Amino acid sequence: MDIIRKHYLDWLRDAHAMEEQALSMMRAMEGRLEDYPALRARIGEHILETERQARELRHLLEATDGGPSLLKDTLGKVTGASQAMSGLFAADEVVKGAMAGYTFEQMEIAAYRVLISAATLLGDRRAIAAFERNLAEELSMAEWLREHLDETTRQFLARAQEAAPMGG
Ligand code: MG
Ligand code: FE
Repeated sequence: MDIIRKHYLDWLRDAHAMEEQALSMMRAMEGRLEDYPALRARIGEHILETERQARELRHLLEATDGGPSLLKDTLGKVTGASQAMSGLFAADEVVKGAMAGYTFEQMEIAAYRVLISAATLLGDRRAIAAFERNLAEELSMAEWLREHLDETTRQFLARAQEAAPMGG
C-alpha cells in the first residue's frame, strides 16, 4: 500500500477511536451537571455532533479496502486526555471536566488538521469535506468551553464556599 495512504488510514482509525472516547467522556459528564445547565446543554449538543462525526468516520473507514478489520482495531484505545478525566468523580469534577474537555477539543482540532493535510495529498474530496465539517464543530466547542471556563470555575467555587463548614 502507498505509504501516504497507510499513514492516512492509521490516523483515520485513531480519529474514530478518539470520537468514540469523546462520546463516553461526554455521556458520563452530562448526567452529572444538573447544577450547570448551560454547560450541560452545550455538552448535549456536542454529543449529537460527535455521534454524527463518529458515524462519518466509520463510513470513510468502511469504504476502504481493509474496511471492517480497520474498524475493529479502534476499540479500547486510550489517549492522554482521558486520563485527565479520572478527576471526573472528584468534588471539583465540573472544573476538571471543563479543563479535560477543552484539552480534548484541542487534540481533536489537531487530528482533523492532520487528516485534512493527508486527504488533500491523496485528493480525497469526500474525506476532506467530512474533516472540515468536524473541524468546524470542534473549533466551536473549544471556543465555547474557553469562553465559559471562568464562569464554570466561579460557579463551582461559590457553591463550594456555601457548602463548606464555617471557616472552611
Ligand atoms: Mg469530535
Ligand atoms: Fe469534539
